[in-house]
Amino acid sequence: MPTPLLRNIAIIAHVDHGKTTLVDQMLVQGGAFRENESHAERAMDSNPQERERGITILAKPTSILWTGEGHPETRINIVDTPGHADFGGEVERILSMVDGCVLLVDASEGVMPQTKFVLSKALARGLRPMVVLNKVDRPSAEPAQALNDIFELFLALGASDDQADFPILYASGKEGWAVASMDEARGAANKNLQPLFELIVRHVPEPEPLKRRDEAFALLATILDSDPFLGRVLTGRIESGRVKVGDPVKALARDGREIERGRLTKLLAYRGLKRVPVDSAEAGDIVAIAGLVEPTVADTIGAMDLATPIPSTPIDPPTLAITVSINDSPLAGRAGDKVQSRVIRARLLQEAESNVAIRVRETENRDAFEVAGRGELQLGVLIETMRREGFEVSISRPKVLTRTENGQVFEPIEEVVIDVDDEYTGVVIEKMSLRKAELQDMRPSGGGKTRLLFHAPSRGLVGYHGEFLTDTRGSGVMNRLFHEWSNWRGDIPGRLRGALISNDKGQSTAYALWNLEERGQMFIADGEDVYEGMIIGENARGEDLDVNPLKGKKLTNVRASGKDETIRLTPPRRLTLEQAMAWIDEDELVEVTPAAIRLRKAYLDPNERKRAARASVG
Ligand code: GDP
Repeated sequence: MPTPLLRNIAIIAHVDHGKTTLVDQMLVQGGAFRENESHAERAMDSNPQERERGITILAKPTSILWTGEGHPETRINIVDTPGHADFGGEVERILSMVDGCVLLVDASEGVMPQTKFVLSKALARGLRPMVVLNKVDRPSAEPAQALNDIFELFLALGASDDQADFPILYASGKEGWAVASMDEARGAANKNLQPLFELIVRHVPEPEPLKRRDEAFALLATILDSDPFLGRVLTGRIESGRVKVGDPVKALARDGREIERGRLTKLLAYRGLKRVPVDSAEAGDIVAIAGLVEPTVADTIGAMDLATPIPSTPIDPPTLAITVSINDSPLAGRAGDKVQSRVIRARLLQEAESNVAIRVRETENRDAFEVAGRGELQLGVLIETMRREGFEVSISRPKVLTRTENGQVFEPIEEVVIDVDDEYTGVVIEKMSLRKAELQDMRPSGGGKTRLLFHAPSRGLVGYHGEFLTDTRGSGVMNRLFHEWSNWRGDIPGRLRGALISNDKGQSTAYALWNLEERGQMFIADGEDVYEGMIIGENARGEDLDVNPLKGKKLTNVRASGKDETIRLTPPRRLTLEQAMAWIDEDELVEVTPAAIRLRKAYLDPNERKRAARASVG
């Protein structure tokens, strides 16, 4: 059997624009599913958090063997692209595996800002995208408008003439077809996805590594995961040579240092939605390997005589750390079943094994772990995942990781790319300067939007995203990428307001909260469980204030029911996990359980709190 042709592509799409549906149809029509095989599992399906946050967190490869009539058999590997901020470096590595990309756009919604970042990286790499206008079966589709915006976006992102001259298909992933014009979309019967397959084969060059088939084996590790049976699994593209199961291999770091020698115990190729064991593989293909325990993403796995590593984008270093400890609040253990430090430790270590960007360190306190990551979003995603798995934990304020060299302190600086409607540029620049960010570039990015480029200390960005969304009426998009270590940029003003702290344990009453409203903004509603030392709101003034949220109104003859039916409370300000993490101060914690996110003082007892405060000053 002749070796099939090979094409590696990335798919760039905003959440809900139909990526999963389209790839699923491609699998069906490409013949990936046998007649009797059900495919309950959907390709590239987003996890609930990806959906809620509107970003792709995990890159997931899929592979189709297309056998179109009159065409040689072709294997098409499709990789999903992570679309956000804290995952910047990953985008570059993922794109380094492919030779083409599909920009999938919902024809009624048009191109969304979240896809811009990945698209700009793809264009910078010289990839020539294909544009698929999806969901054109819908009456609300406006393909002409969408196309116009896409073209403008390409120009704004600095596309070359060749890139801006992109091929276009009109598709309905749901109905399983793609055609070259809207006339065909409205007319022709018997439509299918053959035009899409044909375009991929025609427009995407074959992988460059194919030329290096006869050189020494080398693969660039791009995605890390761990498998209960295989242990550490590294996915990447074979950049040169061939490899067989059992071959001796070594791992080289980016600087050429040898990290490990061993044997390839397992070689897995992507087939449809699954990874299947294969005996051998060659340059150009995207495969997963097992057998080594040390190497990670951005390292090279190669033949014993390989001299130099494959150049790659380094892993963004962790910039922020939080302390994750057991939940020891009076309400602990009510909502979650994973509460002991042993279980928390195991879960965190498992995460570090399969998530390159997360580092876990034990601390002197055996019930507390330091978890470092690339940003609050990433740490937030991890804690949110754990919460949904039934964990209860307490989280400290994120602290920026600094480096000290020759007595000088260096802090992480990030490149922040912001796209906003023109009218919001002023407020964004103002807020960013307060956070010690420096404006590097400002230019129109098409469609009444402006692109701002800043260099900002990670420290200053903690908690800014929520504010940014409010300031830009939800229309702004921010992408962050580690840039450099630089001299400590000096003080950034922190929280200006104090906490309203409960001085008792029980259930909050509407009457008490109503009385407290003049003090500041509440985080809780009435009828909620509270405890001494729990933060129930934000004081309008700078200092902390102990208050009583339990006091009921004295019962009178007139209203004996004791119900506060006449009281209208202002709805509480509910902080999300990331907002809570950014809000708290050094001496405060976020209590995270499957049922609630609460804020609290680290020391619940007011006397202990005073003692600790005195000790930290003295
Ligand atoms: P993803 O988040 O990009 O993977 O999007 P999905 O594939 O999950 O699709 C999101 C929603 O759009 C689902 O409700 C789909 O049924 C719907 N959808 C996807 N493709 C099409 C299409 O071609 N036409 C129409 N009308 N709806 C579609």
